[in-house]
Amino acid sequence: MPESTGEKSFETREFQAEVKQILDIVVNSLYTDREIFLRELISNAADALEKFRYENLTDKHVKDRDLPLEIIIQLDDKEHSLTITDTGIGMTRDELIENLGTIAHSGSKAFIQQLADVSRKDLNLIGQFGVGFYAAFMVAKKIRVLTRSYRPDAEGCEWGSDGIGSYTISRVEGLRRGTKIILELKDDAREFAGVETVKRIIRQYSSFVPFTIRVNGEQVNTVQAIWTRNKNEITEEEYTEFYKFIANTYDEPLYRLHFSADAPLAINALLFVPKQNFERFGFGRMESGVNLYCRKILIQQQAESILPEWLRFVKGVVDSEDIPLNISRETMQDSALVARLRRAITSRFLKFLNEQAKAEPEKYAEFWKIFGFFLKEGITSDFTHRDELAKLLRFESSKTEPGKLISLADYTSRMQEGQKEIYYINGPTREIIEAGPYLEAFRARDLEVIYTHEAVDDFVLSHLMEYDEKKLVSADQAELELPVLEDKPGAEPLDSETVKSLTGWLKETLGDKVSEVKESKRLINSPAVILNQDSLMTSSMQRVMQAVNKDLGAIGRKTLEINARHELIKRLAVLREKDADFARLAAEQVYDNALISAGLLADPRGMVDRMYHILKRALA
Ligand code: ADP
Ligand code: MG
Repeated sequence: MPESTGEKSFETREFQAEVKQILDIVVNSLYTDREIFLRELISNAADALEKFRYENLTDKHVKDRDLPLEIIIQLDDKEHSLTITDTGIGMTRDELIENLGTIAHSGSKAFIQQLADVSRKDLNLIGQFGVGFYAAFMVAKKIRVLTRSYRPDAEGCEWGSDGIGSYTISRVEGLRRGTKIILELKDDAREFAGVETVKRIIRQYSSFVPFTIRVNGEQVNTVQAIWTRNKNEITEEEYTEFYKFIANTYDEPLYRLHFSADAPLAINALLFVPKQNFERFGFGRMESGVNLYCRKILIQQQAESILPEWLRFVKGVVDSEDIPLNISRETMQDSALVARLRRAITSRFLKFLNEQAKAEPEKYAEFWKIFGFFLKEGITSDFTHRDELAKLLRFESSKTEPGKLISLADYTSRMQEGQKEIYYINGPTREIIEAGPYLEAFRARDLEVIYTHEAVDDFVLSHLMEYDEKKLVSADQAELELPVLEDKPGAEPLDSETVKSLTGWLKETLGDKVSEVKESKRLINSPAVILNQDSLMTSSMQRVMQAVNKDLGAIGRKTLEINARHELIKRLAVLREKDADFARLAAEQVYDNALISAGLLADPRGMVDRMYHILKRALA
């Protein structure tokens, strides 16, 4: 076995298993957009140059200080080779082993999985999962990497591999700082030694690389920091190309926000919302997608502290003159200045979303479908922006057409006179909510009820507590003050004496399952309903807990309300006197049915037997 810090000048090492997996896919790839390999190599070279530029600012002892920072591509039509050289940070021997022999990112495992599973292998995403380098094996039968770190005492190293199983590492004399990668092209990939082809690919994918790129001596890109330019002078295409460059993607953004501010902080920001949410595809938690610059110098890539975590889907650039150049990741975390910057940018971004929602509601609905989850996360985790976020929430309601969404502002704007609360009810679908017993009371009073479909929604709304000084109240709560109905529809109710003894008997029969049984003031069509006495423990919250722990029954204190006008309840009152045993069965079934309507039935076993029993009687 080779040692990790080899003294030997030459050794052969095995790739890590995950690397072998990805190489196996890449080497045999019939992927038609193979040219993206160049984008990945250039992006690595640019990263290495950015890192060097940063080290050079803060560290006096870097190697080959005077080398120009640039990317050189040499094409050899006769040898069928492509060589890309950068004067960036370079790699030590240990870094070579770590970076080009293993995969560190957790998200990349999911990516490899997906590549292995899906028949249409879209390698375009390869760069987003921290394995972009290996894309070069789509076009190369052999790759050599010659590199020397910027550290003054570093030695030069060579890495070589044909992409199958293993690679070699050896010591090399006479290298300058940076990395040279030599691709020996596959026979069917010789076109990538052609100057015109390569120039076209660079223009297509890499025109925003902030370093000069030369192909056989000729400069092919114009270096520019687009975000510092005047908005009016930037074309749509330039914006889109820039987005593709920083997001390392191939499609267009959903939203774009370009703004600058002078006070209280000097900010130049260009932010994008992508069209897809990779977290939802099971790729693991995203890292921040915003790079932090100071006067066009990259301070930090994927800077976590510059936006709150729940905005990690946003891609882009923030440039602020107020940030000290030598700020470290650690100091960024708790710097008061960075916190102010974050607040300012976040507020601006949320305001932008709000404007977009008003201007183009349908497009915003699309955004909401993909990224609403993150905004909800923001409400539950970030007090600072809670009120701004509340404006961005969208829900279906009892007064919308299926699929149409409203905001809390829409709701409050059409509340009834004297209505003080905003009502919501959770259920997996609109149909299920509307078939259940909870809506009856609201429907009879023409009160609007917000429908929430996601498990987190009740958590979000109970965190929010109120909107525009109106309390948010779940419709499955026991204590509700609804306006009294003048003439309640339906038959005559049971007299109050009978109701009193029936509810007392029900409480006795159901025992600890309910903490209270009482006559309902809200039910119209259903015989009974389960309500929650603890305002935070809504039925949807309990469903979430039950999903985690299957043995969990109904949680929290429950009220069973019965409808004294309902035929079933009336008959139950009579049956109780004649056949107490059978009445007990019926009572338990009424309770279970109410639980089912609340989406809460945990154990169906006892119920099935009971149903047979009841059926037998009914069929007699
Ligand atoms: P990613 O760029 O997302 O980290 P890659 O597979 O493209 O993933 O590259 C893996 C790592 O190899 C990089 O993070 C970097 O540390 C190192 N690397 C690749 N190319 C270079 C280069 N030209 N100069 C210095 N380091 C490099
Ligand atoms: Mg890369």
